Amino acid sequence: MLSKQILEQAKKENRTQLTEIESKELLKEAGIPVIETKLARTKKEAISLSKRLGFPIVLKVASADIIHKSDSGGVRLGLTNVTQVGNAYSEIMLSIRQRFPKARVQGVSVQEMAHPGVEVIIGMNKDAQFGPVLMFGLGGILVEVLKDVSFGIVPVTRKDAEGMIREIKGYPLLQGYRGQEPADIPSLERLLAKVSEFVEQHPQIKELDLNPVFAYKDSAVAVDARVILEASAEG
Ligand code: ADP
Ligand code: MG
Repeated sequence: MLSKQILEQAKKENRTQLTEIESKELLKEAGIPVIETKLARTKKEAISLSKRLGFPIVLKVASADIIHKSDSGGVRLGLTNVTQVGNAYSEIMLSIRQRFPKARVQGVSVQEMAHPGVEVIIGMNKDAQFGPVLMFGLGGILVEVLKDVSFGIVPVTRKDAEGMIREIKGYPLLQGYRGQEPADIPSLERLLAKVSEFVEQHPQIKELDLNPVFAYKDSAVAVDARVILEASAEG
């Protein structure tokens, strides 16, 4: 589905939260790299899509009502064959039905399993004074516990992005540590600048989260994405 249709659909349904699949579709259309992700409405579809995308595969619950997918038992990583995919589909559905009996579930998203990389996060929030502000940080406990993040007011240029990335205390971790491959800093700079353009082109977006983005030695790709829209005035 095209970005325009996705946004119209959400508006029609009076929904401010886009699903991961919809969010990634919007980003992909804007030239932001995201891991290949498809919607499966049935177990059978999940199996055939996983064969098409290639193992190992990832299954996640697809629902606009569920914000934290792994906390709800809605994420299964590293599935290596059709039996595992079938079982994971049933387990995800069971877990969601038990924990969120009222959630509207579209099915599951079937996605390529990304190679491990350095996990970073990119976010956007709107500040009452400054308008849209981008956030950059390293994924996991560095952000959650240490709040090691940097900010940049949109528009964030390539040059601004350079500063944002070097500003975080964890910056040396991006340069490679303990045998881990370094992350490609120019890819991350490009990504931040692209996300800034995306935000400028979509004033109806209230919040954006790419969490995590996997950074590699020559590229970067978002494996999870969440878009929240402004509540539309006319309802
Ligand atoms: P949540 O809604 O809980 O944030 P995520 O989609 O971020 O769910 O998935 C949880 C974690 O699983 C991520 O932080 C990431 O480490 C891992 N993960 C998610 N999708 C993929 C993928 N396609 N390939 C590899 N790892 C993934
Ligand atoms: Mg996430």
